[in-house]
Amino acid sequence: MKLYLSADMEGTAGVASWAQCDPKNTTEYPYYRHLMSLEVRAAIDGAREAGVKDVLVNDSHSAMRNVLWNELPDDVRMIYGNRKPFSMNEGIDQSFACAFFTGYHAGVGDADGALDHTYSPDTIYNVRLNGTRCSETTMNAALLGYHGVPVALISGDRTTVEGARAFLPWIEGVVSKDSIGRYAVNSFSPAEVRERLRAGATRAIERVAEMKPFRFASPLTLEIDFTGTQNADFAELIPGFARSGGRSVRFQHDDYAVVFKAFVAAMRLGAAANAPV
Ligand SMILES: [Zn+2]
Repeated sequence: MKLYLSADMEGTAGVASWAQCDPKNTTEYPYYRHLMSLEVRAAIDGAREAGVKDVLVNDSHSAMRNVLWNELPDDVRMIYGNRKPFSMNEGIDQSFACAFFTGYHAGVGDADGALDHTYSPDTIYNVRLNGTRCSETTMNAALLGYHGVPVALISGDRTTVEGARAFLPWIEGVVSKDSIGRYAVNSFSPAEVRERLRAGATRAIERVAEMKPFRFASPLTLEIDFTGTQNADFAELIPGFARSGGRSVRFQHDDYAVVFKAFVAAMRLGAAANAPV
């Protein structure tokens, strides 16, 4: 059985600030990337106890070079580095039995979700698919679902886990902390979270037959509200995008993989407009 694991960082035990997750930070980040790595390891260990053989990890945070190789089993492969066309879902295909999302965080605009954002905190104000407000969890689960792969486990703060359960009611949820607004948490200890992750991962694999791929119905309408009009000025230059408001663009297609890549393109081009003029 093959497992796909998308590893983000903001949902790691104890994380409550951007500094803890910023690769340029030389004091706090090295410690918290270690905790992130150990949480990934705990999820892998738990999955293997339930019979998973192959594991592909996709480092999904910031520059996407965070998880420490020496904390993972030697036979695990990992996708490392940024600017991947499918970003937090790079490498997924129909050969995987299920996926885990570890260290995930609340979507932009969710109250009591530490470091809430959706892909780009400086650029994206809101994302909707077919009118439904999306988080990274939603958008990524839909890309896995496009390949027929269900999300079996998510870890992060309580807001993130409850947000996932709202549309994936079967999911195994591992709560790492309760968020107090955007920049404070009441966290379980890292060791406690690792133990919960290991046990949750075993349960998730044992229950994998209950897990269902998540999909949005076609035709698909993607709407992005940016933080500023300058972002929309750039994104609307992409063929197929229409300006739908001062800060907003719209894109329509039947194929979710095309829609997802269109989102990544609009986010990256839109973010380029934040450079000082
Ligand atoms: Zn992240």
